[in-house]
Amino acid sequence: MTDRPHLAVIGAGPAGLAATLAAAAQGVRVTLLDSAARAGGQFYRRPAAEPPAARPRTPHHHRRTGRRLDEALARHVEAGRVTHLTDHHVWFVERRSHRRAEDAAERGGPRDSFTVHALLGPDQDDSVEVRADAVLLATGGYEKVLPFPGWTLPGVLTAGGAQAMLKGSLAVPGRTAVVAGTGPLLLPVATGLAAAGVEVAALVESADPRAFLRRTRALAAQPGKVAEAAQYAARLLRHRVELLTRHTVVKAHGEERLEAVTVAALDADGRVRPGTERRLACDTLAVGHGLLPHTDLAETLGCRLEGLAVHVDAEQRTDAPGVWAAGETTGIGGVDLALAEGHIAGRSAAARLTGAPPDPREWAPVAKSRAGLREFFAALDTVYAPPACWTDLVTDDTVVCRCEEVTGGAIREAVARLGAGDPRTVKLMTRAGMGWCQGRMCGPAVAGLAGCELAPSRRPFARPVPLGVLAHAGEADDDPSEQR
Ligand SMILES: Cc1cc2nc3c(=O)[nH]c(=O)nc-3n(C[C@H](O)[C@H](O)[C@H](O)COP(=O)(O)OP(=O)(O)OC[C@H]3O[C@@H](n4cnc5c(N)ncnc54)[C@H](O)[C@@H]3O)c2cc1C
Repeated sequence: MTDRPHLAVIGAGPAGLAATLAAAAQGVRVTLLDSAARAGGQFYRRPAAEPPAARPRTPHHHRRTGRRLDEALARHVEAGRVTHLTDHHVWFVERRSHRRAEDAAERGGPRDSFTVHALLGPDQDDSVEVRADAVLLATGGYEKVLPFPGWTLPGVLTAGGAQAMLKGSLAVPGRTAVVAGTGPLLLPVATGLAAAGVEVAALVESADPRAFLRRTRALAAQPGKVAEAAQYAARLLRHRVELLTRHTVVKAHGEERLEAVTVAALDADGRVRPGTERRLACDTLAVGHGLLPHTDLAETLGCRLEGLAVHVDAEQRTDAPGVWAAGETTGIGGVDLALAEGHIAGRSAAARLTGAPPDPREWAPVAKSRAGLREFFAALDTVYAPPACWTDLVTDDTVVCRCEEVTGGAIREAVARLGAGDPRTVKLMTRAGMGWCQGRMCGPAVAGLAGCELAPSRRPFARPVPLGVLAHAGEADDDPSEQR
């Protein structure tokens, strides 16, 4: 197997799995790396060990697809075509140029190769290196959360965090929950919590999803998505979850932990309508304001971004030679789009690595579905947005950067009194974004409070790396993808 072209796929979510299966089926050796203990990513996330009876929370066809992906992966692993490395946290991908004639001859041409550096295990104090001929980035997205007074209280968690708890540990975060923010992710979170026995006091959505009904073209092209939305609406009704659209949480209350939230209605400009505030008792607030693509690894490889997502061509190739990208790293678009992009990326990478010219006609139906889904999610994007008033809700004593405990007041002072005109200068003046998460959490809020567009932050490494690991980078002899 080791004489076959070798593709490293980073991320074992729907996109990475589809890419791995497509490439392995075309005769390429694949190493699939993921920081999680099991394949599946966010959508097919399951407990580390399978429980005796899994509770049904996702539609049947999704569970069937998840099982099919699992079984196909197991077959390829068994046959030695795929190495699946779990608990591998990739912190850097290094391009190695083979300009020397003998290196190039050994590799059958002047192609570059890649070394994928990954931290291992729960302590992440050890690193391994996987060497590959090409890299496929399928690292998905992460949640955007905007601050408001009380958002740091215990009991407030991200909507995706609540979902991960439900799917990954079969645990519920509390007894009475409010699910709030904006975006379609709030629907599975609210219905999932309700199905698991949590009393969901309200789903508070700042957008007005009815605006989507005017996008008739996008809706007509995706009847499956319309049916899914109707199913969620029915489940909300069945569990008596109050749906508050064009509303927002203005404050979370509590002494030691969350006890209640105040919600208020929004006017047409996204401002709080005075006099509409009401208090909802709850011990859990699951809040999220949409998703953002993970682009750290792509940026360090020199891939061009389009907005905040990795730019790809029709074959899912990035601008960086030998690097493909698929799924939410190329733009937020849900599980079906991630599967379609992953399949095309895997087919294209395999064809190019084996020297066979890719024939897009072979994946034309998948490409058609990809186009429709991209159009649908672009339309969805125009509907779901945080309310215009979110910056007004951030009081001067609201902590914005949790790692460095920088408040809204400190950021405003840096902008208004000290002349900081961009998030980087705000960071230098206040330390906002200098902590453990390197601004992944507070970046959108700092940019918004500074009156700037959110820009990619160009972090050299995708994860915090121990100095000992850095000191020994490049010295590893063992490549886990070759140990079979
Ligand atoms: C927190 C969260 C919860 C979500 N829940 C739902 C839901 O319930 N329903 C729904 O329809 N959609 C949900 N989504 C959206 C969902 O992510 C997509 O629809 C779909 O899973 C995207 O597939 P993907 O393969 O692009 O990314 P993902 O499924 O996110 O998979 C990316 C994978 O890459 C791995 N990874 C990332 N960076 C690294 C790294 N540096 N090293 C190693 N591995 C890495 C991650 O561990 C993950 O397994 C959720 C998104 C998020 C962020």
